Amino acid sequence: MSTIKVGIVGYGNIGRGVEAALNQNPDMELVAVFTRRAPETLQIHNATAKVEHMDALESYKGKIDVMILCGGSATDLPVQGPEIARHFNTIDSFDTHARIPEYFTNVNEVATEANTTSVISVGWDPGLFSMIRMMSGAILPVGEDYTFWGKGVSQGHSDAIRRVKGVKNGIQYTIPMNEAVESVRNGENPELATRDKHLRECFVVAEDGADLAEIENTIKTMPNYFSDYNTIVNFISEEELRRDHAKMPHGGFVFRSGATGFEEESKQIIEFSLKLDSNPQFTANVLVAYARAAVRMNKEGMKGAKSVFDVPLSYLSPKTSMELMTELL
Ligand code: NDP
Repeated sequence: MSTIKVGIVGYGNIGRGVEAALNQNPDMELVAVFTRRAPETLQIHNATAKVEHMDALESYKGKIDVMILCGGSATDLPVQGPEIARHFNTIDSFDTHARIPEYFTNVNEVATEANTTSVISVGWDPGLFSMIRMMSGAILPVGEDYTFWGKGVSQGHSDAIRRVKGVKNGIQYTIPMNEAVESVRNGENPELATRDKHLRECFVVAEDGADLAEIENTIKTMPNYFSDYNTIVNFISEEELRRDHAKMPHGGFVFRSGATGFEEESKQIIEFSLKLDSNPQFTANVLVAYARAAVRMNKEGMKGAKSVFDVPLSYLSPKTSMELMTELL
């Protein structure tokens, strides 16, 4: 059987993770990495794949089955998603939740016209967590949803603290509150305010002579980011930041706490959790499985933009339906 030919568009954390993920999937082959930077400045691991400037993308039409888009959600994907769907099947991890319907519509218009298939907003959240929320709600229509994130690094909140006057560098961890998680796990269906669900812990490197009390206060009272949470601010050295906070862990829990039956109501709890040492590497592995599905969907005539809800589950696997039934049903 011939391999699925893959291109990586954008070589940041997720792009590097996709390269590593492809290395673990023998039915897929990396053909080229595309970048907006000078190609010779990128060091990739794969010895046979090319590194190309983005301008060369269209010349790979017919040579690549699917492009895995690894650009940022804020400004890269809103442009690259529709542009590249005009020529290739695509997968991306667009995660600006509020703008997903708008993004889907833009990509769908182009992909439908071009007869390509684009699975958008793939990853763990949005992505796997969304699927679990959807399935759990369909199975337990009477109940409550709970999602907890962490312990993990939030890029948005880390950026926000780095913009505070007197801050040289910093990182922020989102941490789920244990009591809240346990209460949900016990089927107590608690009503939780924002600050009951998550704690925010910051590790900050201050500039020499900066007013630490002022920095702490500015962070803790920052609207939209910290003011609705209990926040801990720790001051550390640049050396400690490099040594202890270089990884990008993340994860979380999705719960559906429901009830079934007539008089004798039964509590039913669905729990799905992830504990990730590397958020980008895990996200990349999800993207690669969906890339396989997108190619198959396209061959079978399922064109246009799709979300994780539209992808037949067995298409994620390199195994045949019969193999899956024999081994896993
Ligand atoms: P990065 O900032 O590492 O990379 C984004 C883009 O920036 C790259 O594609 C690359 O494009 C460019 N870039 C990377 N490094 C450099 C550099 N040193 N100098 C100049 N440009 C650079 O972002 P991530 O890979 O960490 O994340 C991408 C997106 O993935 C995030 O915006 C987030 O929205 C999404 N995501 C989604 C998740 C989900 O569960 N759905 C989970 C995690 C992330 P180029 O090569 O063209 O220069």
